[in-house]
Amino acid sequence: MSSNEVIAALMSVLGEDIVSLGEGIAERRTEDWSGLRGEVPLALARPRSVAQVSEIMSICNHHRQPVVVQGGLTGLAGGACTSRGDIALSLERMNAIGAVDTISGTVTVEAGATLEAVQQAAEAAGLMFALDLGARGSCTIGGNLATNAGGVRVIRYGMAREHVLDVEAVLADGSVIGGLHRMVKNNTGYDLRNLMIGSEGTLGVITRAVLRLRPRPGAVATAWCGLADYAAVTRLLECAQRDLEAGVSAFEVMWPSFVDYVTGSVAGLRRPLGSRHGYYVLLEATGSQACAHQERFEGFLATMLENGVIENAAIAQSRADAQMFWRVRDSTADFPVTLPGLVAFDVSFSIADIGAAAQLCEREVSATWPGSIVLAYGHLGDGNLHLIVHVADADAQTVEDIEVLVYGIVRDFGGSVSAEHGIGAKKRDVLDHTRSADEIAAMHSIKRALDPFGVLNPRKVLPG
Ligand SMILES: Cc1cc2nc3c(=O)[nH]c(=O)nc-3n(C[C@H](O)[C@H](O)[C@H](O)COP(=O)(O)OP(=O)(O)OC[C@H]3O[C@@H](n4cnc5c(N)ncnc54)[C@H](O)[C@@H]3O)c2cc1C
Repeated sequence: MSSNEVIAALMSVLGEDIVSLGEGIAERRTEDWSGLRGEVPLALARPRSVAQVSEIMSICNHHRQPVVVQGGLTGLAGGACTSRGDIALSLERMNAIGAVDTISGTVTVEAGATLEAVQQAAEAAGLMFALDLGARGSCTIGGNLATNAGGVRVIRYGMAREHVLDVEAVLADGSVIGGLHRMVKNNTGYDLRNLMIGSEGTLGVITRAVLRLRPRPGAVATAWCGLADYAAVTRLLECAQRDLEAGVSAFEVMWPSFVDYVTGSVAGLRRPLGSRHGYYVLLEATGSQACAHQERFEGFLATMLENGVIENAAIAQSRADAQMFWRVRDSTADFPVTLPGLVAFDVSFSIADIGAAAQLCEREVSATWPGSIVLAYGHLGDGNLHLIVHVADADAQTVEDIEVLVYGIVRDFGGSVSAEHGIGAKKRDVLDHTRSADEIAAMHSIKRALDPFGVLNPRKVLPG
């Protein structure tokens, strides 16, 4: 069937309030933060209700029309980028946040609500939505769940899927699944909620979710530590997890090249420590009572210093100090501006392997492209390494060669080519570095069963 027929059907059922064409969409972004180029789609649908999402999918499925779901377009894998013949389905108008249920510790939200708005709603009710990442002001709950986002608190609270009790989603044929249950225990057959989470818009359109809230910690202590070598970093992690009773809530590791680069290139950032070290760790631990917690935290760091695990530490004495440490870590949002054409990697290894794997990547890249910039940092407690490679004036072949080199090292170490950003359009060709042929075949079977005509986010996630 022609694109004219599908547009006519959408217009007649939903009208131009919901479906925009031509100039109405030409100015819109067609791509996410991945650096991949998008094209202006055939049409943009901005439904206001689950029923309208269902109508849109039913019509598109009938006409075999490709649909790309879009949230806040902050994704880093190209999953939300559109091609010319696609229909973009944006959840931006479905952003309502329901009343917080303080007894069950839940809130039911529409998928277009931003992460930050949900965090604020939880905080206003005296609770916390513990998922957190740098794009919080723009990314949406739908995008967070569709990518199973991680972020800076995974070590304590887990990935996005750990924050969800139920998900409502519209399947390719327009049917609606998910009862928006608010209980933790629900062992009733296949776990459709977890099938939708992490499926990057290829199995269904997430429309609403019941999110799990946590008690807000009474106290947060933060320190910036300098360490000599990778063995000391893993020792600090081990001791912190054992000795900080209330728990480590962030363990962010930065290699010296990263700290030198961002403090030298991003305005207003300064080094938290005057001394130089082989590694830097931003350590955060939560507790219940402010004074006692801070005392215990400082006592722990003093022991680490005495035992030679850390060489030096700056302990935040105020919220402003802690924010200053976090600004160094979060300055990655400036990379696309300061390092245009960069190649970014979000990979994972066993914690024991990260030091050696990062060193090998750095050595091989520098040897192959002298003068290149390699910056390493990561959520080490989760085995997650982020690597930024910048080669001046890199052409498409150079970018491909950099990817082949780094993903080859990931495969050789038995790591994952995507720790938290997803596969999207960017990493389909290297999915087999981490997943076996049988696993990929099983994924194709699931896709065919739920979306037999392949209308949801074609050319994303699965190879071929
Ligand atoms: C500065 C910055 C920092 C970041 N930090 C982190 C981090 O620490 N950890 C991390 O994991 N990610 C991080 N990201 C990546 C990004 O923010 C996350 O992937 C986020 O979850 C994407 O949400 P979004 O609403 O922008 O989704 P989009 O980019 O719009 O879409 C992402 C994918 O989800 C699909 N999708 C979107 N909404 C829906 C829906 N309602 N139903 C079904 N599919 C849908 C899209 O089709 C696409 O495949 C960061 C990004 C930036 C720019």
